[in-house]
Amino acid sequence: MSMSARSRSAPALLSTLISGAGSSGFYPGTEVGEYRDGTAETFNLARADFDAAWKALLPTLTEADFQRWRDARDWTAKKYAMWERGELLPSQKPSSWMGCPCGERFDSHDPAGSYVHREHIYAAQAVDGIRR
Ligand SMILES: [Zn+2]
Repeated sequence: MSMSARSRSAPALLSTLISGAGSSGFYPGTEVGEYRDGTAETFNLARADFDAAWKALLPTLTEADFQRWRDARDWTAKKYAMWERGELLPSQKPSSWMGCPCGERFDSHDPAGSYVHREHIYAAQAVDGIRR
């Protein structure tokens, strides 16, 4: 079981385990490779490590970093609210509609309408190796 404390204006998350051991990290708001985390024997040691790491990180963050964190937070809240209401994200709904590399959308259950897009899909697959 874990508890977390979140700074209202910062892309920071401090969490600690109920057992007394603690860990902390920053996410999102930092680029891959900038992510730092760690563990400590007690909450207070974890808190001190977190404060030191935060003081080092804060001057490197821009308003865009904070906005990216707010956008991720808002999107995550919206996603969970939808799931709470029993709704699915558009990408979670079964659909025969597909996007083609040519930019068009087509119904894959319509052979006549989808035939022309096979060529586009196979051509894109030959270039990037991604199966669609
Ligand atoms: Zn196409």
